[in-house]
Amino acid sequence: MEKSAPARSRFLESVGAYFDRAADLTNFPAGLLDQVKSCNSVYRVKFPVKDDSGNIVVVEGWRAQHSHHRLPCKGGIRFSPHVTQEETVALAALMTYKCAIVGLPFGGAKGSVKIDARACSPGFRERVTRRYTAELIKKNFIGPSVDVPAPDYGTGEQEMAWIADTYRAMKFNEPDTYACVTGKPVDLHGIPGRREATGLGVSLGIQECMSRREDMAELGLSPGVEGKTVILQGLGNVGSYAGHFLEKAGARIVGLAELGGGLYDPAGIDLRRALHHFRENGSLAGMAGQFHENPATILEQPCDILIPAALEGQITTENAPRIQARIIAEAANGPVEYDAESILLERGILVIPDLYLNAGGVTVSYFEWLKNLSHVSFDRMNTRISELAKTQLLDAVENLTGRHLEADQRARITAGPKEIDFVHTALAETMAVAYHSIHDAWKARDLPDLRTAAYYVAIERVCRSYQAHGIFP
Ligand code: NAD
Repeated sequence: MEKSAPARSRFLESVGAYFDRAADLTNFPAGLLDQVKSCNSVYRVKFPVKDDSGNIVVVEGWRAQHSHHRLPCKGGIRFSPHVTQEETVALAALMTYKCAIVGLPFGGAKGSVKIDARACSPGFRERVTRRYTAELIKKNFIGPSVDVPAPDYGTGEQEMAWIADTYRAMKFNEPDTYACVTGKPVDLHGIPGRREATGLGVSLGIQECMSRREDMAELGLSPGVEGKTVILQGLGNVGSYAGHFLEKAGARIVGLAELGGGLYDPAGIDLRRALHHFRENGSLAGMAGQFHENPATILEQPCDILIPAALEGQITTENAPRIQARIIAEAANGPVEYDAESILLERGILVIPDLYLNAGGVTVSYFEWLKNLSHVSFDRMNTRISELAKTQLLDAVENLTGRHLEADQRARITAGPKEIDFVHTALAETMAVAYHSIHDAWKARDLPDLRTAAYYVAIERVCRSYQAHGIFP
Protein backbone atom coordinates (compact mmCIF):
# COMPACT_ATOMS: atom_id res chain seq x y z
CA MET A 1 0.00 0.00 0.00
CA GLU A 2 1.92 3.07 -1.21
CA LYS A 3 1.10 6.23 0.65
CA SER A 4 0.09 9.64 -0.65
CA ALA A 5 1.29 12.98 0.75
CA PRO A 6 -2.03 13.56 2.64
CA ALA A 7 -1.59 10.13 4.27
CA ARG A 8 1.82 11.25 5.46
CA SER A 9 0.48 14.44 7.01
CA ARG A 10 -2.29 12.29 8.58
CA PHE A 11 0.52 10.54 10.48
CA LEU A 12 1.46 13.83 12.17
CA GLU A 13 -2.23 14.53 12.83
CA SER A 14 -2.63 11.05 14.34
CA VAL A 15 0.32 11.54 16.71
CA GLY A 16 -1.08 14.97 17.68
CA ALA A 17 -4.57 13.54 18.26
CA TYR A 18 -3.22 10.67 20.39
CA PHE A 19 -1.24 13.26 22.39
CA ASP A 20 -4.27 15.54 22.91
CA ARG A 21 -6.49 12.67 24.02
CA ALA A 22 -4.06 11.76 26.81
CA ALA A 23 -3.07 15.35 27.64
CA ASP A 24 -6.74 16.19 28.30
CA LEU A 25 -6.71 13.62 31.10
CA THR A 26 -3.76 15.27 32.91
CA ASN A 27 -3.75 18.37 35.12
CA PHE A 28 -0.69 20.07 33.61
CA PRO A 29 -1.05 23.72 32.48
CA ALA A 30 -2.11 24.16 28.85
CA GLY A 31 1.05 26.15 27.98
CA LEU A 32 3.31 23.41 29.29
CA LEU A 33 1.42 20.74 27.35
CA ASP A 34 1.71 22.91 24.27
CA GLN A 35 5.48 23.07 24.73
CA VAL A 36 5.72 19.28 25.17
CA LYS A 37 3.69 18.76 21.97
CA SER A 38 5.56 21.31 19.85
CA CYS A 39 8.52 20.38 17.68
CA ASN A 40 11.44 22.54 18.92
CA SER A 41 13.49 22.78 15.71
CA VAL A 42 13.39 21.49 12.15
CA TYR A 43 16.31 21.81 9.77
CA ARG A 44 15.44 21.36 6.11
CA VAL A 45 18.32 21.01 3.69
CA LYS A 46 18.83 20.60 -0.04
CA PHE A 47 22.27 19.60 -1.21
CA PRO A 48 23.94 18.54 -4.46
CA VAL A 49 25.33 15.05 -4.96
CA LYS A 50 26.90 13.57 -8.10
CA ASP A 51 25.14 10.48 -9.43
CA ASP A 52 27.05 7.52 -10.86
CA SER A 53 27.38 9.25 -14.25
CA GLY A 54 28.73 12.46 -12.75
CA ASN A 55 25.48 14.43 -13.12
CA ILE A 56 24.37 16.68 -10.26
CA VAL A 57 21.28 15.58 -8.36
CA VAL A 58 19.67 17.80 -5.71
CA VAL A 59 18.71 15.79 -2.63
CA GLU A 60 16.29 16.95 0.08
CA GLY A 61 16.53 15.99 3.73
CA TRP A 62 15.42 17.00 7.22
CA ARG A 63 16.41 16.68 10.84
CA ALA A 64 13.66 17.39 13.35
CA GLN A 65 14.54 17.87 17.02
CA HIS A 66 11.21 17.51 18.71
CA SER A 67 12.28 18.08 22.30
CA HIS A 68 15.28 19.62 24.02
CA HIS A 69 14.05 18.90 27.55
CA ARG A 70 16.87 16.39 27.67
CA LEU A 71 20.00 16.34 25.55
CA PRO A 72 21.22 14.89 23.35
CA CYS A 73 18.22 14.37 21.13
CA LYS A 74 17.99 10.86 19.76
CA GLY A 75 16.27 9.32 16.76
CA GLY A 76 16.87 7.37 13.58
CA ILE A 77 17.45 8.46 10.00
CA ARG A 78 14.99 7.31 7.36
CA PHE A 79 15.79 6.98 3.66
CA SER A 80 12.60 6.91 1.62
CA PRO A 81 11.59 8.44 -1.71
CA HIS A 82 8.27 9.52 -0.19
CA VAL A 83 9.40 11.00 3.12
CA THR A 84 8.11 14.46 4.05
CA GLN A 85 8.77 17.05 6.73
CA GLU A 86 5.46 16.17 8.45
CA GLU A 87 6.42 12.50 8.59
CA THR A 88 9.84 13.38 10.04
CA VAL A 89 8.29 15.60 12.72
CA ALA A 90 5.73 12.91 13.66
CA LEU A 91 8.54 10.36 14.04
CA ALA A 92 10.59 12.81 16.13
CA ALA A 93 7.63 13.39 18.47
CA LEU A 94 7.22 9.65 18.93
CA MET A 95 10.92 9.48 19.89
CA THR A 96 10.39 12.00 22.71
CA TYR A 97 7.52 9.96 24.17
CA LYS A 98 9.34 6.66 23.61
CA CYS A 99 12.47 7.77 25.43
CA ALA A 100 10.33 8.98 28.35
CA ILE A 101 8.50 5.65 28.61
CA VAL A 102 11.66 3.57 28.73
CA GLY A 103 13.41 6.11 30.97
CA LEU A 104 16.21 7.26 28.67
CA PRO A 105 17.89 10.65 29.18
CA PHE A 106 17.18 11.86 25.64
CA GLY A 107 14.92 14.31 23.82
CA GLY A 108 13.31 12.99 20.63
CA ALA A 109 14.59 13.61 17.09
CA LYS A 110 14.36 12.10 13.62
CA GLY A 111 16.17 12.56 10.33
CA SER A 112 15.15 11.76 6.80
CA VAL A 113 16.52 11.87 3.29
CA LYS A 114 14.29 11.70 0.26
CA ILE A 115 15.96 8.93 -1.74
CA ASP A 116 15.08 5.36 -2.64
CA ALA A 117 17.86 3.56 -0.79
CA ARG A 118 17.09 0.25 -2.50
CA ALA A 119 17.22 1.66 -6.01
CA CYS A 120 20.49 3.63 -5.77
CA SER A 121 24.06 2.34 -5.92
CA PRO A 122 26.16 1.92 -2.76
CA GLY A 123 28.42 4.71 -4.06
CA PHE A 124 25.53 7.16 -4.40
CA ARG A 125 24.14 6.17 -0.98
CA GLU A 126 27.56 6.79 0.56
CA ARG A 127 27.92 10.24 -1.05
CA VAL A 128 24.40 11.20 0.05
CA THR A 129 24.97 9.94 3.61
CA ARG A 130 28.30 11.75 3.98
CA ARG A 131 27.01 15.01 2.52
CA TYR A 132 23.86 14.88 4.67
CA THR A 133 26.10 14.34 7.73
CA ALA A 134 28.28 17.31 6.74
CA GLU A 135 25.14 19.47 6.43
CA LEU A 136 24.04 18.42 9.92
CA ILE A 137 27.51 19.20 11.31
CA LYS A 138 27.44 22.69 9.80
CA LYS A 139 24.28 23.55 11.77
CA ASN A 140 25.23 21.68 14.94
CA PHE A 141 22.42 19.17 14.34
CA ILE A 142 24.61 16.17 15.14
CA GLY A 143 27.09 15.46 17.93
CA PRO A 144 27.46 13.25 21.03
CA SER A 145 25.94 15.88 23.31
CA VAL A 146 23.44 17.52 20.96
CA ASP A 147 21.82 15.02 18.61
CA VAL A 148 22.65 11.36 18.01
CA PRO A 149 21.08 9.58 14.98
CA ALA A 150 20.56 5.83 14.50
CA PRO A 151 19.13 3.53 11.81
CA ASP A 152 15.50 3.58 10.69
CA TYR A 153 13.57 2.53 7.60
CA GLY A 154 15.95 2.26 4.64
CA THR A 155 19.18 2.68 6.62
CA GLY A 156 21.37 0.32 8.62
CA GLU A 157 24.86 -0.28 10.00
CA GLN A 158 26.62 0.78 6.79
CA GLU A 159 25.03 4.24 6.75
CA MET A 160 25.81 4.66 10.46
CA ALA A 161 29.45 3.77 9.77
CA TRP A 162 29.66 6.45 7.03
CA ILE A 163 28.10 8.99 9.39
CA ALA A 164 30.59 8.15 12.17
CA ASP A 165 33.53 8.30 9.79
CA THR A 166 32.45 11.65 8.30
CA TYR A 167 31.92 13.14 11.75
CA ARG A 168 35.33 11.85 12.91
CA ALA A 169 37.01 13.30 9.83
CA MET A 170 35.52 16.76 10.48
CA LYS A 171 35.82 16.75 14.30
CA PHE A 172 39.13 14.95 14.63
CA ASN A 173 40.10 16.76 17.85
CA GLU A 174 36.99 15.70 19.81
CA PRO A 175 37.49 12.70 22.13
CA ASP A 176 34.01 11.13 21.83
CA THR A 177 33.39 11.25 18.10
CA TYR A 178 32.02 7.69 17.83
CA ALA A 179 29.20 8.64 20.24
CA CYS A 180 27.77 10.91 17.49
CA VAL A 181 25.69 8.04 16.05
CA THR A 182 24.50 4.60 17.18
CA GLY A 183 23.66 1.40 15.35
CA LYS A 184 27.24 1.25 14.03
CA PRO A 185 28.87 -2.06 13.07
CA VAL A 186 30.46 -3.83 16.06
CA ASP A 187 33.82 -3.42 14.30
CA LEU A 188 33.34 0.36 14.35
CA HIS A 189 32.57 0.90 18.03
CA GLY A 190 29.03 -0.49 17.81
CA ILE A 191 27.57 -2.79 20.43
CA PRO A 192 26.60 -6.46 20.10
CA GLY A 193 22.82 -6.78 20.18
CA ARG A 194 21.93 -3.45 18.53
CA ARG A 195 21.12 -5.07 15.20
CA GLU A 196 18.33 -7.22 16.64
CA ALA A 197 17.38 -4.86 19.50
CA THR A 198 14.13 -3.43 18.13
CA GLY A 199 12.77 -6.81 17.01
CA LEU A 200 13.85 -8.47 20.26
CA GLY A 201 12.20 -5.63 22.21
CA VAL A 202 9.00 -6.15 20.19
CA SER A 203 9.01 -9.85 21.08
CA LEU A 204 9.73 -9.13 24.76
CA GLY A 205 7.01 -6.46 24.91
CA ILE A 206 4.42 -8.82 23.37
CA GLN A 207 5.42 -11.55 25.85
CA GLU A 208 5.17 -9.11 28.76
CA CYS A 209 1.71 -8.01 27.63
CA MET A 210 0.50 -11.56 27.02
CA SER A 211 1.67 -12.75 30.44
CA ARG A 212 -1.32 -10.93 32.04
CA ARG A 213 -3.94 -13.64 32.49
CA GLU A 214 -6.85 -11.23 33.10
CA ASP A 215 -6.10 -9.08 30.02
CA MET A 216 -5.75 -12.17 27.83
CA ALA A 217 -9.01 -13.63 29.19
CA GLU A 218 -10.80 -10.48 27.96
CA LEU A 219 -9.46 -11.22 24.49
CA GLY A 220 -10.44 -14.88 24.73
CA LEU A 221 -6.78 -15.92 24.67
CA SER A 222 -4.74 -18.05 27.05
CA PRO A 223 -1.70 -16.26 28.52
CA GLY A 224 1.70 -16.48 26.82
CA VAL A 225 2.82 -16.45 23.18
CA GLU A 226 3.37 -20.19 22.92
CA GLY A 227 1.16 -21.67 20.21
CA LYS A 228 -0.22 -18.27 19.19
CA THR A 229 -0.46 -17.42 15.49
CA VAL A 230 1.34 -14.38 14.08
CA ILE A 231 1.11 -12.32 10.88
CA LEU A 232 4.07 -10.05 10.11
CA GLN A 233 4.09 -7.08 7.73
CA GLY A 234 7.60 -6.02 6.63
CA LEU A 235 10.58 -8.35 6.56
CA GLY A 236 13.24 -5.73 7.21
CA ASN A 237 15.32 -5.27 10.33
CA VAL A 238 12.46 -4.96 12.84
CA GLY A 239 10.01 -7.45 11.33
CA SER A 240 12.49 -10.25 10.68
CA TYR A 241 13.97 -10.18 14.20
CA ALA A 242 10.57 -9.78 15.89
CA GLY A 243 9.38 -12.86 13.99
CA HIS A 244 12.55 -14.78 14.81
CA PHE A 245 12.31 -14.17 18.56
CA LEU A 246 8.57 -14.87 18.66
CA GLU A 247 9.10 -18.15 16.79
CA LYS A 248 11.80 -19.01 19.34
CA ALA A 249 9.30 -18.31 22.14
CA GLY A 250 6.89 -20.83 20.58
CA ALA A 251 4.62 -18.68 18.39
CA ARG A 252 3.65 -19.85 14.89
CA ILE A 253 4.07 -17.50 11.92
CA VAL A 254 1.07 -17.93 9.60
CA GLY A 255 1.32 -14.84 7.41
CA LEU A 256 3.96 -12.58 5.86
CA ALA A 257 3.38 -9.37 3.90
CA GLU A 258 6.11 -7.66 1.85
CA LEU A 259 6.22 -5.28 -1.07
CA GLY A 260 5.27 -7.32 -4.13
CA GLY A 261 3.07 -9.86 -2.38
CA GLY A 262 2.24 -11.78 0.76
CA LEU A 263 1.95 -15.35 1.96
CA TYR A 264 -0.64 -16.98 4.20
CA ASP A 265 -0.45 -20.54 5.50
CA PRO A 266 -2.45 -21.55 8.58
CA ALA A 267 -0.23 -24.63 8.91
CA GLY A 268 2.73 -22.35 9.66
CA ILE A 269 5.56 -20.71 7.70
CA ASP A 270 9.23 -21.42 8.43
CA LEU A 271 10.51 -17.84 8.81
CA ARG A 272 14.15 -18.66 8.08
CA ARG A 273 13.24 -20.34 4.81
CA ALA A 274 10.84 -17.55 3.88
CA LEU A 275 13.47 -14.86 4.55
CA HIS A 276 16.05 -16.77 2.51
CA HIS A 277 13.53 -17.19 -0.34
CA PHE A 278 12.56 -13.51 -0.21
CA ARG A 279 16.17 -12.30 -0.23
CA GLU A 280 17.12 -14.64 -3.08
CA ASN A 281 14.06 -13.96 -5.27
CA GLY A 282 12.86 -10.54 -4.16
CA SER A 283 9.40 -12.03 -3.63
CA LEU A 284 7.55 -14.58 -1.51
CA ALA A 285 5.96 -16.10 -4.63
CA GLY A 286 6.85 -19.77 -5.02
CA MET A 287 6.76 -20.62 -1.30
CA ALA A 288 4.24 -23.18 -0.03
CA GLY A 289 0.98 -21.53 1.11
CA GLN A 290 -1.49 -19.06 -0.41
CA PHE A 291 0.30 -16.26 -2.27
CA HIS A 292 -1.55 -12.92 -2.39
CA GLU A 293 -0.39 -10.39 -4.97
CA ASN A 294 -1.74 -7.57 -2.82
CA PRO A 295 0.20 -7.82 0.47
CA ALA A 296 -2.37 -5.63 2.27
CA THR A 297 -4.89 -8.51 2.18
CA ILE A 298 -2.57 -10.59 4.40
CA LEU A 299 -3.27 -8.19 7.29
CA GLU A 300 -6.92 -9.24 7.17
CA GLN A 301 -6.32 -12.98 7.55
CA PRO A 302 -7.10 -14.82 10.83
CA CYS A 303 -4.37 -14.76 13.50
CA ASP A 304 -3.89 -14.00 17.18
CA ILE A 305 -1.19 -11.33 16.78
CA LEU A 306 -0.79 -8.95 13.83
CA ILE A 307 2.58 -7.19 13.70
CA PRO A 308 2.84 -4.26 11.29
CA ALA A 309 6.61 -3.72 10.98
CA ALA A 310 6.85 -1.68 7.77
CA LEU A 311 5.53 1.89 7.74
CA GLU A 312 2.88 4.19 9.19
CA GLY A 313 -0.74 4.39 8.08
CA GLN A 314 -1.24 0.71 7.25
CA ILE A 315 -4.43 0.22 9.27
CA THR A 316 -7.03 2.81 8.36
CA THR A 317 -10.81 3.23 8.68
CA GLU A 318 -11.01 1.33 5.38
CA ASN A 319 -9.43 -1.98 6.48
CA ALA A 320 -9.85 -1.81 10.29
CA PRO A 321 -13.32 -3.47 10.20
CA ARG A 322 -11.79 -6.48 8.42
CA ILE A 323 -8.82 -7.09 10.77
CA GLN A 324 -9.25 -10.48 12.45
CA ALA A 325 -6.30 -10.42 14.89
CA ARG A 326 -6.95 -10.22 18.65
CA ILE A 327 -3.80 -8.17 19.27
CA ILE A 328 -2.11 -5.59 17.04
CA ALA A 329 1.51 -5.16 18.06
CA GLU A 330 2.86 -1.92 16.58
CA ALA A 331 6.45 -2.73 15.69
CA ALA A 332 6.47 0.06 13.10
CA ASN A 333 5.94 3.69 14.03
CA GLY A 334 2.38 4.87 13.49
CA PRO A 335 0.90 1.87 11.66
CA VAL A 336 -2.62 2.47 13.05
CA GLU A 337 -4.28 5.79 12.10
CA TYR A 338 -6.11 7.66 14.84
CA ASP A 339 -9.58 7.22 13.32
CA ALA A 340 -9.00 3.52 12.75
CA GLU A 341 -8.02 2.87 16.34
CA SER A 342 -11.51 3.46 17.72
CA ILE A 343 -12.88 0.85 15.30
CA LEU A 344 -10.32 -1.66 16.54
CA LEU A 345 -10.98 -0.89 20.21
CA GLU A 346 -14.75 -1.17 19.73
CA ARG A 347 -14.16 -4.58 18.21
CA GLY A 348 -12.26 -5.61 21.35
CA ILE A 349 -8.82 -5.71 19.71
CA LEU A 350 -5.88 -4.85 21.98
CA VAL A 351 -3.29 -2.49 20.46
CA ILE A 352 0.21 -2.53 21.94
CA PRO A 353 1.38 0.96 20.99
CA ASP A 354 4.51 1.84 19.02
CA LEU A 355 5.83 4.33 21.59
CA TYR A 356 6.32 1.44 23.99
CA LEU A 357 6.71 -1.60 21.76
CA ASN A 358 9.51 -0.56 19.42
CA ALA A 359 11.60 1.22 22.08
CA GLY A 360 14.12 -1.66 22.21
CA GLY A 361 16.21 -0.08 19.46
CA VAL A 362 16.71 3.26 21.17
CA THR A 363 17.31 1.46 24.48
CA VAL A 364 20.26 -0.48 23.11
CA SER A 365 21.39 2.65 21.25
CA TYR A 366 21.61 4.24 24.71
CA PHE A 367 23.93 1.42 25.82
CA GLU A 368 26.06 1.94 22.71
CA TRP A 369 26.26 5.69 23.36
CA LEU A 370 27.30 5.06 26.99
CA LYS A 371 29.94 2.61 25.81
CA ASN A 372 31.32 5.14 23.30
CA LEU A 373 31.44 7.88 25.93
CA SER A 374 33.17 5.67 28.49
CA HIS A 375 35.53 4.12 25.88
CA VAL A 376 35.20 0.71 27.49
CA SER A 377 32.97 -2.29 26.77
CA PHE A 378 30.47 -3.39 29.42
CA ASP A 379 32.09 -6.78 30.00
CA ARG A 380 35.70 -5.66 30.20
CA MET A 381 35.63 -4.58 33.84
CA ASN A 382 33.18 -7.25 35.01
CA THR A 383 33.66 -10.64 33.41
CA ARG A 384 36.71 -11.87 35.32
CA ILE A 385 35.57 -10.53 38.67
CA SER A 386 32.20 -12.20 38.26
CA GLU A 387 33.94 -15.48 37.36
CA LEU A 388 36.17 -15.14 40.40
CA ALA A 389 33.24 -14.55 42.78
CA LYS A 390 31.32 -17.53 41.42
CA THR A 391 34.43 -19.77 41.55
CA GLN A 392 35.04 -18.85 45.20
CA LEU A 393 31.40 -19.53 46.06
CA LEU A 394 31.46 -22.92 44.31
CA ASP A 395 34.78 -23.84 46.02
CA ALA A 396 33.19 -23.06 49.40
CA VAL A 397 30.06 -25.13 48.57
CA GLU A 398 32.20 -28.05 47.38
CA ASN A 399 34.37 -27.89 50.51
CA LEU A 400 31.31 -27.83 52.76
CA THR A 401 29.44 -30.63 50.96
CA GLY A 402 32.45 -32.72 49.91
CA ARG A 403 30.76 -33.13 46.50
CA HIS A 404 32.22 -31.88 43.22
CA LEU A 405 30.70 -30.70 39.96
CA GLU A 406 31.79 -32.04 36.56
CA ALA A 407 34.31 -29.71 34.89
CA ASP A 408 31.88 -28.65 32.12
CA GLN A 409 29.08 -27.96 34.64
CA ARG A 410 31.48 -25.89 36.68
CA ALA A 411 32.63 -23.95 33.64
CA ARG A 412 29.03 -23.16 32.66
CA ILE A 413 28.12 -21.90 36.15
CA THR A 414 31.23 -19.82 36.69
CA ALA A 415 31.38 -18.25 33.21
CA GLY A 416 31.32 -14.46 33.45
CA PRO A 417 28.84 -12.40 31.40
CA LYS A 418 29.73 -11.28 27.89
CA GLU A 419 28.77 -7.86 26.57
CA ILE A 420 25.79 -9.35 24.71
CA ASP A 421 24.49 -10.72 28.05
CA PHE A 422 24.57 -7.23 29.58
CA VAL A 423 22.73 -5.84 26.57
CA HIS A 424 20.03 -8.54 26.39
CA THR A 425 19.31 -8.60 30.13
CA ALA A 426 19.22 -4.81 30.45
CA LEU A 427 16.90 -4.63 27.43
CA ALA A 428 14.59 -7.29 28.94
CA GLU A 429 14.50 -5.40 32.24
CA THR A 430 13.76 -2.11 30.45
CA MET A 431 10.86 -3.57 28.45
CA ALA A 432 9.39 -5.22 31.55
CA VAL A 433 9.64 -2.13 33.78
CA ALA A 434 8.21 0.13 31.07
CA TYR A 435 5.28 -2.23 30.48
CA HIS A 436 4.51 -2.26 34.22
CA SER A 437 4.45 1.54 34.28
CA ILE A 438 2.02 1.91 31.37
CA HIS A 439 -0.13 -1.05 32.45
CA ASP A 440 -0.34 0.33 36.00
CA ALA A 441 -1.37 3.75 34.68
CA TRP A 442 -3.98 2.11 32.41
CA LYS A 443 -5.60 0.19 35.25
CA ALA A 444 -4.99 2.41 38.30
CA ARG A 445 -6.14 5.60 36.57
CA ASP A 446 -8.88 3.89 34.64
CA LEU A 447 -7.56 5.17 31.31
CA PRO A 448 -9.46 4.04 28.22
CA ASP A 449 -6.73 1.99 26.54
CA LEU A 450 -3.05 1.07 26.55
CA ARG A 451 -1.99 3.75 24.04
CA THR A 452 -3.63 6.52 26.05
CA ALA A 453 -1.85 5.13 29.12
CA ALA A 454 1.51 5.17 27.30
CA TYR A 455 1.01 8.79 26.18
CA TYR A 456 -0.18 9.70 29.66
CA VAL A 457 2.99 8.31 31.28
CA ALA A 458 5.22 9.97 28.67
CA ILE A 459 3.49 13.35 29.00
CA GLU A 460 3.72 13.21 32.78
CA ARG A 461 7.46 12.47 32.68
CA VAL A 462 8.32 15.14 30.11
CA CYS A 463 6.16 17.75 31.90
CA ARG A 464 7.87 16.97 35.20
CA SER A 465 11.26 17.36 33.55
CA TYR A 466 10.26 20.80 32.20
CA GLN A 467 8.88 21.81 35.60
CA ALA A 468 12.10 20.76 37.31
CA HIS A 469 14.23 22.73 34.84
CA GLY A 470 12.03 25.82 34.87
CA ILE A 471 11.64 28.01 31.80
CA PHE A 472 14.65 29.98 30.58
CA PRO A 473 15.13 32.96 31.03
P1 NAD B 1 13.64 -1.75 6.95
O1 NAD B 1 13.91 -0.80 5.86
O2 NAD B 1 14.75 -2.59 7.46
O3 NAD B 1 12.44 -2.75 6.56
C1 NAD B 1 11.14 -2.37 6.23
C2 NAD B 1 10.54 -3.45 5.33
O4 NAD B 1 9.15 -3.15 5.11
C3 NAD B 1 11.20 -3.53 3.96
O5 NAD B 1 11.59 -4.87 3.71
C4 NAD B 1 10.11 -3.06 3.00
O6 NAD B 1 10.17 -3.69 1.74
C5 NAD B 1 8.85 -3.45 3.76
N1 NAD B 1 7.66 -2.72 3.36
C6 NAD B 1 7.54 -1.40 3.05
N2 NAD B 1 6.27 -1.10 2.75
C7 NAD B 1 5.57 -2.26 2.87
C8 NAD B 1 4.21 -2.60 2.70
N3 NAD B 1 3.31 -1.70 2.33
N4 NAD B 1 3.83 -3.90 2.91
C9 NAD B 1 4.73 -4.83 3.30
N5 NAD B 1 6.04 -4.55 3.48
C10 NAD B 1 6.45 -3.29 3.26
O7 NAD B 1 13.00 -0.85 8.12
P2 NAD B 1 13.01 -1.15 9.68
O8 NAD B 1 14.23 -0.54 10.26
O9 NAD B 1 12.70 -2.59 9.91
O10 NAD B 1 11.79 -0.22 10.15
C11 NAD B 1 10.43 -0.69 10.04
C12 NAD B 1 9.56 0.17 10.95
O11 NAD B 1 10.04 0.08 12.31
C13 NAD B 1 9.54 1.67 10.64
O12 NAD B 1 8.26 2.18 10.97
C14 NAD B 1 10.57 2.25 11.60
O13 NAD B 1 10.33 3.61 11.88
C15 NAD B 1 10.30 1.38 12.82
N6 NAD B 1 11.42 1.32 13.77
C16 NAD B 1 12.67 0.92 13.39
C17 NAD B 1 13.69 0.85 14.33
C18 NAD B 1 15.07 0.34 13.99
O14 NAD B 1 15.88 0.15 14.93
N7 NAD B 1 15.37 0.05 12.74
C19 NAD B 1 13.45 1.23 15.66
C20 NAD B 1 12.17 1.64 16.03
C21 NAD B 1 11.15 1.66 15.08
